[in-house]
Parts: sequence; C-alpha cells; structure tokens
Amino acid sequence: MTDGPVAILFDIDGTLITSGGAGTRAWALAFDEVYGVKVDISQFSDLGMTDPEVAVRSFEAVLGRKPQPKELVSILERHVHYLAQTVESSERYKVLDGAEELLTDLIGRGYMLGLVSGNSEKGAHIKLSRANLNRFFSFGGFGSDSADRSELTKTALQRAELAFGRQIALPQFLSVGDTARDVEAAHAVGIKCVGVATSKFTKQDLLDAGADYVIGSLREGLPIQSSVSVQ
Ligand SMILES: [Mg+2]
Repeated sequence: MTDGPVAILFDIDGTLITSGGAGTRAWALAFDEVYGVKVDISQFSDLGMTDPEVAVRSFEAVLGRKPQPKELVSILERHVHYLAQTVESSERYKVLDGAEELLTDLIGRGYMLGLVSGNSEKGAHIKLSRANLNRFFSFGGFGSDSADRSELTKTALQRAELAFGRQIALPQFLSVGDTARDVEAAHAVGIKCVGVATSKFTKQDLLDAGADYVIGSLREGLPIQSSVSVQ
C-alpha cells in the first residue's frame, strides 16, 4: 500500500473545462419551456453549487415558492435535455489548460480518477463528452446523488472503494477543484484539496478558503509523488 494518493477526484466546471455559459443557457431554456419564465440563474446561484441547489434557488426566485419534488425532478430533467444542445453549440466551450495532458499522465501512472461535481451524472457526462474526456474517469459523485456537495463527495469516495475493490484510507484521496465549495466539501469528508485558480477564485482566495495546495492551472501538475503503485 502506498502512502500517497490512489484516487484523485476532479471537479468539472472551471477545473477541467468551461462550457462557455452552456449550463446557464440550458437552465433558461428549461424554465422557459416548463413555466414560460425568463431565468438568468447567474443572479441566484454561485460557482460550485449543485444542480439541485441552482434549480431550487432559481425556482423560488422566479415563481415565489418552493418546488414540489415532482417539479424539481422535471426541471432538472429538462435542464439536462437542453444541456446536450447548449454544450454542443457553445462557442466558448474549452478544455482548460493542461487538463487532458494531466489526466493522461495520471492514468498512465496508475491513479484512479473520479469526478466530483454538482452537475447531475448525465449533465457531467454531456459536458465532458464534447472533449472526449469521460474516458478517464471510473467513478464519481454528482448533483444527482445529493444536493449537498459534501454528501456527493462522500458518495464519490464510496464508489472509488467499490471500483478499487477494497477500502481506501482518507489520506489516499485527493480532490481538485476551482472554488471554495470544492475545498469545503473535501474537508467535510476528511480529504485534502488542491485549489486550481482557473476561474473566478484566485490562488489567494483558494488559500483563504483553506485549500491544502494551490496551482495556477492543471499544466503545473499536482503536488503528488512522481509514481504510485496500486496493488
Ligand atoms: Mg467548479
């Protein structure tokens, strides 16, 4: 058993890719179709929020009440439906600097890679499929598992152990994300977090949020030993 990480969890938006506003446009189309209302979710949501959180906040803001469970399921489903279109047509979609090279390198060195994302599982796969990045990931925790980012991170850890076939000690996990919420969720489940300053949060912001390490982009690599043996 190695002391270093075995499993590395990646956030998606602002960490691996930017969808260029595809998520926001998909929410607008979903709310327009179902309720005939114009919604700009950027007014009610923050980076790092889970899809269920975004949906509930937006729903409450424009309709003035909490959604019923069936209504929440419906708006989340419509969001994913439109996301397939908005991601495909997004002119500003891009893979962030160094992401594909880093994932290729980590897989080659024997790490298990997973996703930890506030997107629903289907939404996560839609966002990554345009750049053919799904192939790197063998497990994950998603916004479709829980509205709470800490809970869905815990789910990711459990699925990593299932995929690995045995228990993985907490120090052998590492999380990588671009927002304070990623740092908080990682620490809530007892794992370390690398903050990557590729979106709104600066290195200092991420340090202030408690990140264990910070990097300017994935091109800099992760602060882990040069090789790992998974046995
Ligand atoms: Mg993010």
